[in-house]
Amino acid sequence: MSERGKVDGQTKLVGIIGYPLRYTLSPVFQNAAFYHLKLNWCYLPLVTENKYLEKAVYGVRALSFVGVNITMPYKQKVIPLLDEVSADCEAIEAVNTIHLKDGRLIGYNTDGAGFLALLKEQANSDVKDKKVMLIGAGGAARAVAAAVAKAGVSEIYVVNRTFKKAVSLCEVLKEKCSFKAQPVDLRDGLTSFVGNADIIINATSVGMKGERLPLPYEKIGEGHLVCDLIYAPSKTPLLEEAEKREAKVLNGLGMLIYQGALSFKIWTGEEAPVDVMFSAAKKALAEPSQA
Ligand code: NAP
Repeated sequence: MSERGKVDGQTKLVGIIGYPLRYTLSPVFQNAAFYHLKLNWCYLPLVTENKYLEKAVYGVRALSFVGVNITMPYKQKVIPLLDEVSADCEAIEAVNTIHLKDGRLIGYNTDGAGFLALLKEQANSDVKDKKVMLIGAGGAARAVAAAVAKAGVSEIYVVNRTFKKAVSLCEVLKEKCSFKAQPVDLRDGLTSFVGNADIIINATSVGMKGERLPLPYEKIGEGHLVCDLIYAPSKTPLLEEAEKREAKVLNGLGMLIYQGALSFKIWTGEEAPVDVMFSAAKKALAEPSQA
């Protein structure tokens, strides 16, 4: 918003469609960015029950929104409702950003690129030729796996509690990214995988409530970069263990901000003020209601 709280007939609208959307930070940091750049734009939470998803996406067009983000649980389900999707979305079968351009709804996925930006900007790390141990095989893991595969990593070990989902993610990587990854059961001895990996990524929800992943933590050391896609709490038990052992650690706040910054650029055509977005998100996370 060009002026805090001011909305008028010229205001351009964007938002986020999801359910139940209770803890989304996107309106906070996107509106902070609009305010900072004096753009007369407004980002709204659009809480949408499953039965109304089709109507809500129709509403993007009907109400002349510039675009929307799509979050859980609709990243896959929204695809048939769009006119076109980018190659990234096809690989991972998920859309997190829609842009209404010349009357057409175009789907993008900025999650994977957001993750790569996090590594580059906050750890000065290029993934090329690195070995990656990716824990998880859900939506976030798919986006990260496709992004790191395309960015030239040498190996990916996909570790998951439900082994068949690890296998299925490896099949997607082979088919869509021509990358041969190795599926691993989370209950297997993971010692050699942790020892071999340069980058360890937690893309499961384990750690949000302080739970520990069953990993051989003693094998983590100062040569590792350990990333957790979780950002609340800011330090999961995995990151605490890794930091204790002098590994470099990153939480998921950067991925959230960078994927949002990429959506911002798709909609507005302008570079997002990421520092402003970070400050707004951190301030909101420090408020007791976000805990
Ligand atoms: P999802 O599709 O539901 O996948 C959940 C994953 O967690 C699956 O691999 C699941 O394994 C695993 N899992 C859940 N409970 C487990 C347990 N008790 N033990 C072992 N594994 C368990 O969710 P998602 O969308 O991928 O999100 C995963 C995490 O990433 C969430 O914490 C989310 O907040 C975070 N995330 C962060 C960002 C960001 O921008 N920072 C973006 C997206 C997601 P099974 O296959 O065995 O069920």
